Amino acid sequence: IEEKFDAIVVGAGMAGNAAALTLAQRGLNVLQLERGEYSGSKNVQGAILYADMLEKLIPDFRDEAPLERHLVEQRFWMMDDNSHVGLHYRSEAFNEERANRYTIIRAQFDKWFSSKVKEAGATVLCETTATELVQNDKGKVIGVRTDRTGGLIHADVVVLAEGVNGLLGTRAELRTRPKPENVALAVKEMHFLPREAIESRFNLKGDEGVVIEAAGTISRGMTGMGFIYANKECVSLGIGCLVSDFQKTGETPYGLLERFKSHPSVAPLIEDSEVKEYAAHLIPEGGYKAIPKLYGDGWVVVGDAAQLNNTIHREGSNLAMTSGRIAAEAIFQVKSRKDEMSAKNLSLYKTMLDESFVMKDLKKYKDMPGLMHVNSQNFFLTYPQLVSKAMQSFVRVDGTPKAEKERKSMRAFVEARSWVGLFGDAFRLARAWR
Ligand code: FAD
Repeated sequence: IEEKFDAIVVGAGMAGNAAALTLAQRGLNVLQLERGEYSGSKNVQGAILYADMLEKLIPDFRDEAPLERHLVEQRFWMMDDNSHVGLHYRSEAFNEERANRYTIIRAQFDKWFSSKVKEAGATVLCETTATELVQNDKGKVIGVRTDRTGGLIHADVVVLAEGVNGLLGTRAELRTRPKPENVALAVKEMHFLPREAIESRFNLKGDEGVVIEAAGTISRGMTGMGFIYANKECVSLGIGCLVSDFQKTGETPYGLLERFKSHPSVAPLIEDSEVKEYAAHLIPEGGYKAIPKLYGDGWVVVGDAAQLNNTIHREGSNLAMTSGRIAAEAIFQVKSRKDEMSAKNLSLYKTMLDESFVMKDLKKYKDMPGLMHVNSQNFFLTYPQLVSKAMQSFVRVDGTPKAEKERKSMRAFVEARSWVGLFGDAFRLARAWR
């Protein structure tokens, strides 16, 4: 390979592929490094793909990308140990030709995404780990070393797209390691079933899909959520909680997953399935306040490595693709002006990102991660139990006068949280949501 590139992109996940593709499409000489055997081999996601963000990169992706199902229904479940209260939204409007959301399998999808990066002209080296960011005596990043050559590969700019746990940026002291209260550890299984079984269990036809997001006692009072996504011939199912909560409680991720799978609302959906894959991965959950410095002399950081993840809406890959694309566009603009890849010039990336939905959404929810973390027992244990009991009383017909049922349910809420606690929780939630 050549010794000097316009840009080196470290990582071939959603952010790295978006950045490398955009740079190559703009005619820059790009080297992309991926430690996995192929793009996607190391990557874990639920996974929902948000079409709008991919369309901006590859407008006709629907013609060839390996997509599973287009989503027509979204379910939210608030769970206690043997029931769930659900909010389901299903619409024929989502049965459109250019659907808005799809389920995907990352190993297949990333491989295809990477083929587009190669087609655009980037040099993609897999099974190659970037081991060191090399800086000159003024601290400017001038290239990387890899485990392959040991030699220095020069570049005007390095795009760090190395994912949530990115060691390269941390080792070079461009950022600190994410704190345990700012990352969730998620575990996920793929349950294989005949296509017809999935369609009848989830009430689907053709390539229609559904996703279920679940929270409540399944996380044992820790800040976390579960998910169930229907693919064509398998169901992705997983759960994740903050690492700091695992440390504090001694709960185990696989223990939570087993409980989630055996929940009476979940078990029938995966009955008689064959588990072929098991994966664990971190998710950045610190939100806006956990975002590190996004650029410096000769470098920018994108995607999960920049902690760009919207936990409230369960969005990550779209923020990764968007930040990768925007970083590449900023680099292209600096390059077109024949300017230095200095921190001052690369600050354009941050300016452009601030203008996008990425930073606007993260800023909107900046207080949510802290609120959920401090009040996890209430939001993930006490309230789901109270709501479930109230719903059961509401639905059960047993001759008890309705007014008496309502008084009893209300009393249960006040006994558990007090009036001050109830109003305080509602106020804090409304303020953090605004
Ligand atoms: P990654 O996809 O993690 O890619 C980083 C890449 O860098 C990897 O390929 C890695 O091998 C490579 N790499 C790392 N270090 C080096 C190195 N030193 N040298 C070379 N290569 C390196 N998001 C959604 O939008 N929808 C979902 O449904 C969803 N569900 C999720 C479910 C789970 C269980 C998890 C864990 C995450 C989920 N996410 C979801 C989040 C989403 O997966 C991430 O936000 C997204 O993958 C981030 O992309 P990325 O490119 O920044 O990082």
